[in-house]
Amino acid sequence: MGEPLVPRMQGFGTTIFAEMSAMAVATGSINLGQGFPDTDGPPAMLEAAIDAIRGGGNQYPPGPGIPELREAVAAQRLDRYGLEFDPATEVFVTVGATEAIAASVMALAGPGDEVIVFEPYYDSYAATIALAGAVRRAVTLRPVQGRFTFDPDELRAAVGPRTRVILVNSPHNPAGTVFTRDELQVIADVCREHDLVAITDEVYEYLTFDDAEHIPLATLEGMRERTVSISSTGKTFSVTGWKTGWVTAPAPYVRAVQTVKQFVTYAVGGPWQRATAYALRNEMPWVEELRKSLQGKRDRLISGLEAAGFETYRPQGTYFVQADIRPLGFTDGMELARALPEKAGVVAIPTQVFYDDAAAGAHFVRFAFCKKDEVIDAAVERLIDLR
Ligand SMILES: *Cc1c(COP(=O)(O)O)cnc(C)c1O
Repeated sequence: MGEPLVPRMQGFGTTIFAEMSAMAVATGSINLGQGFPDTDGPPAMLEAAIDAIRGGGNQYPPGPGIPELREAVAAQRLDRYGLEFDPATEVFVTVGATEAIAASVMALAGPGDEVIVFEPYYDSYAATIALAGAVRRAVTLRPVQGRFTFDPDELRAAVGPRTRVILVNSPHNPAGTVFTRDELQVIADVCREHDLVAITDEVYEYLTFDDAEHIPLATLEGMRERTVSISSTGKTFSVTGWKTGWVTAPAPYVRAVQTVKQFVTYAVGGPWQRATAYALRNEMPWVEELRKSLQGKRDRLISGLEAAGFETYRPQGTYFVQADIRPLGFTDGMELARALPEKAGVVAIPTQVFYDDAAAGAHFVRFAFCKKDEVIDAAVERLIDLR
């Protein structure tokens, strides 16, 4: 029998997360690779899901999502950002942000169309664009004065006659950048000039640090009508296993996304939707505590990594720190990440897997800090001996 997998998906075999998490288990290492929290979400939110199950909310919910959740999402976009969306036609519930991204890309970019992404990019983007038969064009984020950003000329140069979509992730995983208004303005100008649709991945919208402010691209002049905004429950409420997300966009875009999504999963688990609606309305103080606690964890991990000899980039948001391995005498992050479990008993992710231009990311590894303080401290203690 030949290779059963269609050619366009070959090369997406095993994710680095599977490889590294297996290594963590095999070597008993501390896993700072995959970004999931090791503490639970708000207790009353967990209870709300249990109540929904006990209360009989266990049959197919409406395809676009339960009205309660669509209304809560619309209220959140309005209260926090001043963006108005009609819950009936402009809000749509998906199986996590991952499905929202996949359905949006497949709905809006077809074979041969081009999709711009900023690299290092979240790993599902490349696979989803390939699944759509579309072509990825990466614009590289590079460190400038301690922060990853893009060159506006490189962005403009990436646009061609087949460009349809630009995929924007801010706060950015794995670079940790929160795009400024000026950076977003450059993106908005490109979108308007070339009639592009923006798909924004805002799953870390609440997890920003210091004075960084998350600004949705849709709030910029002329962008609400050409932006599909995506967020989800997982990161905001520390329930990454719930896989409950949403799209907010003008009705024609929502209809386009729905057309694809309805034949992939049709609907999203009802109990999670009910509990998410509850949390969006009631658990924002909990989220603010999470944000503060993550900021402390960020600083804790960075101090440790610096003491161990890494050069670090202090993220403005998300769960992740980029660490430059060259001060320790290493040059290839892939080699180091594969050796680190044996060498130090710690697992990190080589950032180069998130680039088309692997050389641009060769010397970075990514560490996650959404872990208990004692786990971070134990990892740091092991890394100190690396030098
Ligand atoms: C975690 C993550 C997602 C996936 O979110 P789900 O709601 O779990 O599907 C999407 N984009 C980025 C950048 C992420 O870090």
